[in-house]
Amino acid sequence: MLEVRNLQVSYGAIEAVRDVSLSARSGHITALIGANGAGKSSLMRAISGVTPATSGQILVNGRDITRLKPHERARVGVAHAMEGRRILHQHTVEENLVTAWHFRKPPGSFKQALEKVYSNFPVLAERRRAKAGTLSGGQQQMLILSMATQHEPPVVLLDEPSLGLAPIIVTQIFEYIKAYSAEGNRVVLLSEQMATLALKVADYGYVLKHGQVVFDGDRKQLNDGVADLSSAYLGTT
Ligand code: ATP
Repeated sequence: MLEVRNLQVSYGAIEAVRDVSLSARSGHITALIGANGAGKSSLMRAISGVTPATSGQILVNGRDITRLKPHERARVGVAHAMEGRRILHQHTVEENLVTAWHFRKPPGSFKQALEKVYSNFPVLAERRRAKAGTLSGGQQQMLILSMATQHEPPVVLLDEPSLGLAPIIVTQIFEYIKAYSAEGNRVVLLSEQMATLALKVADYGYVLKHGQVVFDGDRKQLNDGVADLSSAYLGTT
């Protein structure tokens, strides 16, 4: 369980996240839904520690991680796949996976993890020796997801995993995310601009506007409110 209590993130005078509280349950997928600039990335960055929170608390399974450094949070099991496709473009697919593995120094066997990555995404196996920069957007997202999850962290933050991808690839990526969450009873928090897309994957969702939670609910409640939510908070989808 990931809990965020009264979190505040400011950049100088800009209050990007304002008094946000949420909980993301193990084995469930929780979505942060909001338009461009609503504060989704800032909230995720504060959870993983790459952007400091001004105030508030972050707890993982009851443990307060608010004061831990980003690499210490990673060791507690918080993985963050950031927006903007953070991969090494000049390195091969496999080199990217190796680098991400060693950076986190997890227990267990890299060989086994790699086999699992390639069985989840056979196209990455086919392109294992290709430079990551030559992959399509969908393949890059598969690589990013694999880099964030190959060591099987209990808490995964995914910033807009569907961004810019064709619907068929989004479906594939969402299937992977669902399986990842269910298989290990893991926490998945993902951000999404479009409520309709979030509904395809999320068990629970929080809608953000101007840094504040303006609505939250389970899949049914989101579904019932999707038309109103889209016009009120998200722009038409
Ligand atoms: P997007 O979908 O564009 O990533 P978002 O919902 O993730 O949007 P944030 O990126 O968290 O929103 O931005 C929230 C607010 O904070 C916006 O007003 C944005 O301009 C501002 N902001 C974000 N990062 C910075 C920064 N490094 N310095 C100053 N302001 C920032």
